[in-house]
Amino acid sequence: MTESLLFRGAKILGTDSADVLVRDGRIAEIGSRVSSAGARVIDADGLVALPGLVDLHTHLREPGYEASETVLSGTRAAAAGGFTAVFAMPNTSPVADSAGVVEQELALGEAAGYATVQPIGAVTVGQKGERLAELGAMASSRAHVRVFSDDGFCVWDPLIMRRALEYVKAFDGVIAQHAQDPRLTEGAQLNEGAVSAELGLAGWPAVAEESIIARDILLAEHVGSRLHVCHLSTAGSVELIRWAKKRGVAVTAEVTPHHLLLTDELARGYDARFKVNPPLRTQEDVLAVREGLADGTIDIVATDHAPHPSEAKACEWQAAANGMVGLESAVRVVHQAMVQTGLLDWSDVARVMSSAPARIGSLAGHGTPIEVGQPAELTLYDADAQGVFAETDLHGQSTNSPYLGRELPGSVRWTVHRGYTTVEDGVLVELGS
Ligand SMILES: [Zn+2]
Repeated sequence: MTESLLFRGAKILGTDSADVLVRDGRIAEIGSRVSSAGARVIDADGLVALPGLVDLHTHLREPGYEASETVLSGTRAAAAGGFTAVFAMPNTSPVADSAGVVEQELALGEAAGYATVQPIGAVTVGQKGERLAELGAMASSRAHVRVFSDDGFCVWDPLIMRRALEYVKAFDGVIAQHAQDPRLTEGAQLNEGAVSAELGLAGWPAVAEESIIARDILLAEHVGSRLHVCHLSTAGSVELIRWAKKRGVAVTAEVTPHHLLLTDELARGYDARFKVNPPLRTQEDVLAVREGLADGTIDIVATDHAPHPSEAKACEWQAAANGMVGLESAVRVVHQAMVQTGLLDWSDVARVMSSAPARIGSLAGHGTPIEVGQPAELTLYDADAQGVFAETDLHGQSTNSPYLGRELPGSVRWTVHRGYTTVEDGVLVELGS
């Protein structure tokens, strides 16, 4: 049983304000003077209504690394950030490389209740890159896995990559590649360029990403299968995807919020909150990925939410772990980098943060337009708000956000998942109570 909710005066993707009635987990009515009979009335005047956000790239850390994050804490962070579905990366312990582990992940998400958790399966057993995992068993399991990735590691062996691409064709699956040549990035600490040279730290060159993307485009074309490029970060990578799409290759690509906003200049302070893989790049790369997202070369924004306990970050740069939490800040960073710059409007944001990731990951019931009869997965966002991002904005287990203390626009006011609220007027709902 869910209550009826009537949002008064929301802005539905560029149109005039409208009332949206949610009942029995669906959008029941949209109009200018919808009757409030039996419904809880919510003042949504001026709030942007978006389809519930969908993240194709989240690290939930459970099972195995519960000190960093759990499915419950990670999905609470997701809801706070306006997400109603997250795809969980398989680099857990045990690795999600079998039907049993992906079904466990799915069940943990269902028990938590804050967002749909769609497991991603590992490409290779134990993410070791040596032999294919049971892709078919994961696909036909209750978790209905369609996205496979060894994220954290690159599927480097070209024959294994080819076999994986061939295998997933049978059920329209997709291989999501973490494009990083391991040999070219041994010991790498940050982007290879002027900053790494000045600091005297080993660089992570753009070519280590681009060479893998180029190879995988050619493999995907040869096999006639679907390739998805995770966290694309360089201007050259944008060019490669643009070229591949022109050729008609079935490739999609994602960019993270941090690669849309931050640069390697931030490494100068040796603050490990800015250490991430792939690394923050140059301003030229930032402008290129923004342009790529604006012109549709890059399909989606994905967070690469990567929680780490404080001891993994509060240490010298070289010893620190890679990764940033990103769920709570994602839409606000996209607002700043893409909407305030005029590169995207809110209907584009709905596409790159909801409908396109749901489509790429073949996730039903999410990313649907805000129309009568559609599932009630909604985010109501105050685009006029502005505030300093603070630890109180974080709801996961870890606090390794690069935005703490930074002014960001916007505020997630309401999140509706399966017809019930997970965020009410900016406050995370305690579902257990
Ligand atoms: Zn990755």
